[in-house]
Amino acid sequence: MAEQRIVVVGAGIVGLSTAWHLQRGGAEVTVVERRDVAAGSSWGNAGWLAPALTLPLPEPAILATGIRALLSPKSPVYVPPRADPRLLGFLAGFARHCTDRRWRRALQVFIAANAHALDAYDELTEATGEAVDERISRATPFLAAFANETDREALLEEFRRVNEDGGRTDYSLLDDAAVHELEPALGPGARCGISIEGQRFINPGRFVHALADAVKAAGGEIVTGREVAEIEGRDGTRPRVRFTDGDPIEADAVVVANGAWLGRLARRHGVRRLVQAGRGYSFTVQPDSPPRNPIYLPTQRVACTPLGGSSDGLRVAGMMEFRDPDDRLDPRRIDAIVEAAGQMFTGVDFAARRDEWVGSRPCTTDGLPLVGRTRTQGVYVAGGHGMWGIALGPLTGRLLAGQILRGETGDVLRSFDPLR
Ligand SMILES: Cc1cc2nc3c(=O)[nH]c(=O)nc-3n(C[C@H](O)[C@H](O)[C@H](O)COP(=O)(O)OP(=O)(O)OC[C@H]3O[C@@H](n4cnc5c(N)ncnc54)[C@H](O)[C@@H]3O)c2cc1C
Repeated sequence: MAEQRIVVVGAGIVGLSTAWHLQRGGAEVTVVERRDVAAGSSWGNAGWLAPALTLPLPEPAILATGIRALLSPKSPVYVPPRADPRLLGFLAGFARHCTDRRWRRALQVFIAANAHALDAYDELTEATGEAVDERISRATPFLAAFANETDREALLEEFRRVNEDGGRTDYSLLDDAAVHELEPALGPGARCGISIEGQRFINPGRFVHALADAVKAAGGEIVTGREVAEIEGRDGTRPRVRFTDGDPIEADAVVVANGAWLGRLARRHGVRRLVQAGRGYSFTVQPDSPPRNPIYLPTQRVACTPLGGSSDGLRVAGMMEFRDPDDRLDPRRIDAIVEAAGQMFTGVDFAARRDEWVGSRPCTTDGLPLVGRTRTQGVYVAGGHGMWGIALGPLTGRLLAGQILRGETGDVLRSFDPLR
């Protein structure tokens, strides 16, 4: 068969992982991106490859947090007081999935996907040929810290449910002394913890740039600064990518991987499930004792990740703000993270923070990604990973390339069906 020409829309972790796998399967790939490589959610996130925490977002507890959010501006979940009808539709759909039964059903899909998420990363970095030249760090261990044992019980309960339902989370409990011995940057506010084994982390911006370099080195083209306006297609013809300006491109297949903006391009191809921006914020600080491993503050819903060498600093991330992905950064959300994280650390000058950032998690109502063929011949989507697109991006690329090039399918892809 002649080499297929495939266009991927969006140069985030999902689009570039798909491009990488398509190339290895023999396709000629062009990635088109409205801004730059890693310009979306794939830059300032926490970079956790943490199967223990890669779990469905809609769950009964988050519903309670969401209701509190309407009452407190400092809540880690923010919903605008005057939500538009589209957002209200999303929130109603999301709330319907926040039941124990539905969470457990989605959990089965995550357990199956998580089983392959880390080896999909190894495949990228250990491949012969155009491997991704960037480090994946093992957390030794991954630490969750709490102000008291009552707070800790919520995460322990989640781990017990995962283990009961066939997942496997290895963890041990840490007392006050053990937490501080492990992590001197934690202050007196942290009184107990959980040590979670088998988790990894990356510097996500660096990783996604290295992935783009690998795609280019393998002969792929990455076209930045071009915004896709629409993908035209009908059965019996090749899909056409139309830009907001300039000439369109035709291809044998098009993959829509444009993150929180996915609905705008995918809806006309039969993808009805809403993708809503769940915006998160981050910034970087320079602790006196730089942590070498990620620190999770579950009660505060704050994620902290060392970015590499000690001068790269510690990224502090959090918030879930349901708003338009193109709205500006709201400094009140950064203040809320500073206040929440400040209670738990010592020797960190939060006033000297840098790289303040907002990015949009592409959230779906049922918490499952949207990956696979659409109703239009040759048009595919890859996105909607919400909180976990970094962890699941490489696996998504592998699965989708298998479907496009070889017609492969399987239980995980069936659960990610974008036409569900
Ligand atoms: C604070 C925070 C912390 C997070 N922490 C983690 C974590 O620890 N682990 C984890 O697994 N996940 C994490 N996530 C989630 C993760 O960042 C996302 O799920 C993931 O980056 C989504 O990748 P993507 O490639 O689908 O989208 P994006 O990275 O957003 O890429 C989409 C790209 O498409 C481009 N685009 C949009 N529209 C068009 C158009 N019309 N034409 C051309 N290009 C277009 C955008 O510019 C963008 O570059 C976090 C997110 C946030 C906000």
